[in-house]
Amino acid sequence: MTFATDASRGEEVSFARATPHLSASVKAGNRPGTTTSTDVSEVARGACPCGGGEIIVYLETPDHGWSSRQWQRRWGEITCGTCATEFVVQISGRVRLVRRSDLEAQRRKVQEWTTQSDLVLQSEGAITLFQRLVARLKAERSVAAVWRCLSHYGMTQYSESAFRKHWKDAEDWVKENKGIWLLERILAHIPVQPTQVH
Ligand SMILES: [Zn+2]
Repeated sequence: MTFATDASRGEEVSFARATPHLSASVKAGNRPGTTTSTDVSEVARGACPCGGGEIIVYLETPDHGWSSRQWQRRWGEITCGTCATEFVVQISGRVRLVRRSDLEAQRRKVQEWTTQSDLVLQSEGAITLFQRLVARLKAERSVAAVWRCLSHYGMTQYSESAFRKHWKDAEDWVKENKGIWLLERILAHIPVQPTQVH
């Protein structure tokens, strides 16, 4: 077992050999939310960083072979108390050990960003911009025209028919799609309407 140490991205775990064998069968209904019986297999095993325990990777699949392509889930377990306190196993293609402290720092950053973007979205400037978009959409004569406008400015990824199914009115759409990304597009594409002079 080797570690490619990279503090920011977690430590990559490579296992000397995979040892696939069925370790458990989970019957449907034994776990909340489970509707299919599943097989849990151990697919890899290696020593933990301190050497006092092991890291085990499991693979869970439905227990009927014909549906094996439906879904599968992998997860890791650290059997060493010392290392389990310091690390968690993350699996996304590769197996990594991530320090719990790094995860915490990441979580705090996301939290901070969410708080800041919420403040921006509630600001008077943002409200004015969203109202500008509502006015622009209300000026369109049909749902098709609204969709053309939104797609043209990269504000919706929906097809026209899917968009029609979700569309209620301009206020509702803006409320549902409020975000920093939308503010940026309004600033870039929807100019201030000239004040009408009588
Ligand atoms: Zn350990």
